[in-house]
Parts: sequence; C-alpha cells; structure tokens
Amino acid sequence: MTKTVLITGASSGFGKDAARLFQKNGWNVIASMRSPEKETELGNLDRVALVRLDVTDSESIQKAVEDGIARFGRIDAVVNNAGYGSLGVLEAAPMEVVRQQFDVNVFGVIEVIKAVLPHMRENRSGVIVNVSSMGGRIAFPFSTLYHATKYAVEGISESLQFELEPLGIKVKIVEPGGYKTDFAGRSLATFGAGDLLDYKPAYDAFAGQVDNWPMSERVWEVAEAIFEAASDSSEQLRYPVGADAVQLLQARKEMDDLAIKNLIAGHI
Ligand code: NAP
Repeated sequence: MTKTVLITGASSGFGKDAARLFQKNGWNVIASMRSPEKETELGNLDRVALVRLDVTDSESIQKAVEDGIARFGRIDAVVNNAGYGSLGVLEAAPMEVVRQQFDVNVFGVIEVIKAVLPHMRENRSGVIVNVSSMGGRIAFPFSTLYHATKYAVEGISESLQFELEPLGIKVKIVEPGGYKTDFAGRSLATFGAGDLLDYKPAYDAFAGQVDNWPMSERVWEVAEAIFEAASDSSEQLRYPVGADAVQLLQARKEMDDLAIKNLIAGHI
C-alpha cells in the first residue's frame, strides 16, 4: 500500500527536499506550509497535496491533518520540520520573542503530534520524525532560545517513545549540523544585545562570525536522513547528519562539561 507522509515547513530547505524525496520514492506527500499559494513546484508533482499549515495556528493544523487523511486515506509518518532560530543575549530578549520561539519550535511540534496521534493510534502504526539539531544536545553562545527549544524537542521525543511504542508508533529525532538552506538567511531572527553594553563586545564579535560559519551545501543528506528515519523500521532514535554534527556529538559523549565548554569556546 502507498504510504503517506505529512511534512511541516515544506516550502523550503530540508522540508522541501524531503517532500521531493518521499514523492520520488513512491510515497503520497502532504506538503504543508504557511503560504501554499506561493509554491510553484511541489504542487505539480503526482501524489503531492499542498496544504496550508501554520504551526502556531491550531485550526490550520487540524484542517491540514483532516484534509490529508481525506485525500490519501491515512498518514503513516509525520515530519516536524518547521522551525527557526532566535539569536541574541538572553537578558535583551523581549518576552514575545521568547514565546514565539517556543510557539513555533516546541508547542507547534507538540500540537502537530497531538493532531495525528488519534489517527496513528487507531491504525496502531506510525512514525513521528522530529527535526531537532546538533544544537539539541550541544550549545553555542548567544543562542539560548534556539537551544532551549531543540533540547526540548529531544526531551519530548525521548520520553514520548515510551508511551507510543506499545501502540505501534515510533519516534525519531534527526539532528542536522550546519547546512546552507534558507535558515541562515531568513530563519535566523536576531535580537542582538539591545543597549546592554556589558555584553556588546562579546556579542558583536560573535555576530561578526555568523556569516562565516561553515555550512554544508549537501542539504539533500538531511532529507535522506529524514526519509531513512521514517522508513527504516528500526528502533534507532537519533539520526545525526553531517560531519560537524557527528564529530561534535561524539565529543559531547566523550568529554565532560568543562572540556566541551572549552572546545566550543575555541571554535567561536
Ligand atoms: P528554512 O529553509 O528556512 O526552512 C524553515 C521552514 O520552517 C520554512 O518552510 C518555513 O516556512 C517554516 N516555518 C517557520 N515558521 C513556521 C510556522 N509558524 N508554521 C509553519 N512553518 C513555519 O530552514 P531549514 O534549514 O530547512 O530548517 C528546517 C528545520 O531544520 C528547522 O527546524 C531548523 O531548526 C532545523 N535545522 C536547520 C539547520 C541548518 O543549518 N539549516 C541545522 C539544524 C537544524 P515559511 O516559508 O512559511 O517561512
């Protein structure tokens, strides 16, 4: 039977590449995004349904899930990919910026999971793939909000697997390193140091380097890891992707907190 995946944030980057890859491999794809009317490519592919889904809009989540099931009969996998990163000094972060980061990267993930679970429970089958980051297990400076959300995604996933496994539903975490998607261009929201001069020299030095972060162009690797996670039927929980993610997460395993802090400080 043809399988069906629902992907959030399928308008660009990993989400769009994953939509293409699932489709190429014979899956039905519910390619969800905030502005489907702007999408000119995916909608022309067979077995792809474009649906509107903003992860901060409960109604749009419910409707996307219902419309997807109505169109293809079932949902076998969901890929929680939509997300963005807030960078800046924590003390300078307006609370609405803090809340928005959690609304999209954490509460959005939870709400999409809650929306598909009744269907997956009924089927006694399903795979939930949560796109975290190497930044879900290792932290860089001036990125407190982003890390907080990705660490949360890891915790949600790690705990959720216990309650869903007996019902035939798997949970997977994909942890990309740095990749040249639109993320650095438009999905990084910078609020800076405000007028807090104590932080400014360190923050400015950090911000001056952001454009020089080594980012891999091999974006398709992440789509491949997402596809593997959704389809390999294994019990593997985590899928780190990219040389930087693999190396840093290995170092995280082997080093103590002080050693890892010094390693990261030496990189920045
Ligand atoms: P991207 O090309 O900028 O894609 C981000 C996607 O998230 C876009 O489709 C965007 O949709 C969507 N999005 C943002 N807010 C949304 C909302 N409220 N509702 C629904 N969709 C929303 O960046 P990407 O690199 O592919 O990022 C995808 C995921 O990978 C994110 O979770 C990110 O944290 C994670 N990640 C990225 C990297 C990296 O280096 N690129 C590394 C580790 C993890 P719109 O088109 O509507 O804005």
